[in-house]
Amino acid sequence: MSKTVLFWFKNDLRINDNPGLNFSSKKGLVLPIYIHDENSKIGSASKLWLHNSLLSLDKSLDNNLNFFSGNSLHIILSLCKKHNIENVVWNKSFEPELSSLESKIEKSLRKINVEVNKFNASLLWEPTDVLKSDGLPYKVFTPFYRKGCLSLSDEPRKPIHVSRNINFFSYNEKKPIDLLGLSDNKKWNKKILKYWDIGEFHAKNKLLNFISQGLIGYKKLRDFPSGKNNSMLSPHIHFGEISVNQIWHEIKKHPLDKDSDHFLSEIGWREFSYYLLHHFKKLDEENFQKKFDNFPWRYDEKLFSLWKKGKTGFPIIDAGMRQLWETGYIHNRVRMIVASFLVKNLQIHWHHGRDWFWECLVDADLASNSASWQWVAGSGADAAPYFRIFNPVLQSKKFDLNGEYIRKYIPELSQTETKYIHTPWEQKNIDYYEPIIDLYSSREEALKSYNQIKN
Ligand SMILES: Cc1cc2nc3c(=O)[nH]c(=O)nc-3n(C[C@H](O)[C@H](O)[C@H](O)COP(=O)(O)OP(=O)(O)OC[C@H]3O[C@@H](n4cnc5c(N)ncnc54)[C@H](O)[C@@H]3O)c2cc1C
Repeated sequence: MSKTVLFWFKNDLRINDNPGLNFSSKKGLVLPIYIHDENSKIGSASKLWLHNSLLSLDKSLDNNLNFFSGNSLHIILSLCKKHNIENVVWNKSFEPELSSLESKIEKSLRKINVEVNKFNASLLWEPTDVLKSDGLPYKVFTPFYRKGCLSLSDEPRKPIHVSRNINFFSYNEKKPIDLLGLSDNKKWNKKILKYWDIGEFHAKNKLLNFISQGLIGYKKLRDFPSGKNNSMLSPHIHFGEISVNQIWHEIKKHPLDKDSDHFLSEIGWREFSYYLLHHFKKLDEENFQKKFDNFPWRYDEKLFSLWKKGKTGFPIIDAGMRQLWETGYIHNRVRMIVASFLVKNLQIHWHHGRDWFWECLVDADLASNSASWQWVAGSGADAAPYFRIFNPVLQSKKFDLNGEYIRKYIPELSQTETKYIHTPWEQKNIDYYEPIIDLYSSREEALKSYNQIKN
C-alpha cells in the first residue's frame, strides 16, 4: 500500500517550482489541503485574491484541493488520525507568528509519529544564512544584498519542474471553497478583479511580458506611475503563484545589465524585508529605531479619512489613494509619496497607514508592508531620514509631468490644463478639493517634532 502524504498549501499556490509538493508527489498518494486559519489576519483585498488563486490552483490540481477553515493544528491532527497519514509536508513560512505555529504543529505531529518535511519555497536566501562577519544580522540593505547574499558561493536554487501527474489520495469529503468566506465582498470583488488575472499561469505570463516589454529601461522608468516598466508581480509573488527563484533565473537568462541588475535588487529588497522581520520579530508593530517611540504623533480622524478617500486636494496623493481603492494596488513611487504625506505632513502614526494598506492592497505582505512603512517614516532599518520630506507637488511634476496618472484616477481633473494638473487650487473656477494642509508649514511642524526626538 502506498504511503499517504498530506501537503499543506499556504502562500505557495503553484505547482511548478514547489519543492514541498514535488517531494510529496514522489513519496506517495498526496492529500493537498488549504486551511483558512481562525487567527488569520488577512485584509479584504487580499481575501479576494486568495479566493481566486485557490480556485485556479484547485483547477490545476484537477479539483483535488481540499478547503478547511478553523484551527490549523486541530485540522491537521484530526486528518492524520482519521486517514492514517504518515507524512505531513509544507513550505516554510518566514513570518514569526506563522513560523511558531508551524513549530507547534511539527511537535504535535512528531509526538504521534508522523514524519514532517519542510522546504523553503519563498525566499532566495534564508534569513539565518546571511550574517555579518561578527555573526550579527545586517541592518543596511546594500551590504546585506551585495556582500551578504550575492557573495554567497551558491547561487539561488534553480526552479524545480513538478509533474502534473500527481497521484492523489481519494478524499470524499471535499467542501466548497465558499466555506472559507473569502469572497463575501461582492461589490468590491467585481471591481478589483477587472484589473487582474489571477493564478500561476497568468503569473508566469506576466513575468514573460514584463521581460519583453518592461525590463529595458526599468532602472529609470520604474518611477513613472503611468509607464509600463513595473512588473505588477507583487500579489503573484506574495501568494506564491510564482517563486522568486523562477523570476531570478528567468531574468538571468538575459544579459545582466543595469536594468536587470536593478530589478533583481528590488527582489532583494523583498528579501531584506523578510530578513528584518525574522531578526527583529516585532518589526510590524515596534519602531526599529527606538527614539521614534517618543515621536509626538498626532491623530486627526477627519484628515486621515480624507487621505484614505483620496480627497486631500493634492492630485498625486488623491490619485494614488484612489488607485488603491479602485485596483488594490499602488505604484511604488506613489506609495512612498502618499506614505510620506501621511506620516510627515499630517504626522499620523505609520500604524494607521500600514493598516489601511493592509486592508486594501492585493499584495499586502507583513514583511514588505511593515518594513516599507518604517522606511518611509524614518523609524526603520536603513530608512529614509525623517527630515527628507517629499513635496507631493514636486514629485508629481517630476514623475507624472503631463498628469496622465492623475487624470486616469481622478476623473474630475481629466480635462484640467496641464499647467494646473499638479496644483488645481491655482486655477480659478476649478471644482476640486482644497488642499487639506499647507505644505510649507506642515513640513516645518514635522521637522520641529523630529527635532524633539533627534538625539
Ligand atoms: C508604504 C509602502 C508599503 C508597501 N507595502 C507593500 C506590501 O504590502 N507588499 C509588497 O509586496 N510590497 C510593498 N511595498 C513595496 C513596493 O511598493 C511593491 O512591492 C511594488 O510597488 C510592487 O509593484 P511591482 O510588482 O510592479 O514592483 P516591481 O518594480 O516590478 O518590483 C518587482 C518585485 O520586487 C519586490 N519589490 C519591489 N520594490 C520593493 C520594496 N520597496 N520592498 C519590498 N519588495 C519590493 C516586489 O516583490 C515586486 O513585485 C510597499 C512600499 C511602500 C513604500
